[in-house]
Amino acid sequence: MTTPLVVGNWKTNGCQSESVNLARAIVRLKRRCPARVQLAVAPPFTALASVTRALRRSGIGVAAQNCHWLESGAFTGEVSPTMLRDVGCDMVILGHSERRHIFHETDAVVAQKVEAALRNGLRVILCVGETLAERRQGRTAKVITRQFRIALKGLAKNAIDNIEIAYEPVWAIGTGQNASPVQIARVHRRIRQLLTGRFGKAAGSRSRILYGGSVKPDNAAVLATTGEVGGFLVGGASLAAESFMSIARCFNQELN
Ligand code: PEP
Repeated sequence: MTTPLVVGNWKTNGCQSESVNLARAIVRLKRRCPARVQLAVAPPFTALASVTRALRRSGIGVAAQNCHWLESGAFTGEVSPTMLRDVGCDMVILGHSERRHIFHETDAVVAQKVEAALRNGLRVILCVGETLAERRQGRTAKVITRQFRIALKGLAKNAIDNIEIAYEPVWAIGTGQNASPVQIARVHRRIRQLLTGRFGKAAGSRSRILYGGSVKPDNAAVLATTGEVGGFLVGGASLAAESFMSIARCFNQELN
């Protein structure tokens, strides 16, 4: 089984000192009681450099929460993939629903970002997910399929080695209402079919698919045992080291 991946998305929370303290607390807990997973955190841009330093030699990855698709130029306020590599980032989250819905990022924009991030040596965590209205209209599979196909259009087959897909139903993000294991399993199976169709059988069977949406210490164990879940993308509950690590440790039993 591929090692699960648990990523904490800190969003727009924490100045440098708070972010560094949180990173150090995660390292301490990881040493005391290891989680048998790969860990990564996604601090705000302003804390990326200091968190990267704080996590050096910890084995914990650092992801950015977004990036632009060009290396440099007149794009006021944007951060390029080259700059992310320069501060020591390993990964970038792209297509997060807050980017899609609050900042109106289209599938085509997400696709440009995915291509640029990969070209610059970043691993990509690509988020896909339906809104509540789309789910109620029975369009979940259709929406996921469209987001997946457009975001990954034109990539070489081996690009998938550097991509994680995270299923994040929009209605579950920050709402305290997680998707049920049955709902998750159904969408993850669809994503696996898409992976197989697009990148081949081996990629389809070995890729881990993350789930994100109100994952908390008290529901993580149940969600982690949903066969199709290969890790979590955690928002709110990743802002405290204890809850983040207790979520990560849920996979320990799974791996026994
Ligand atoms: C997220 O923003 O990716 C997320 C899953 O948030 P939360 O865990 O707070 O629902």
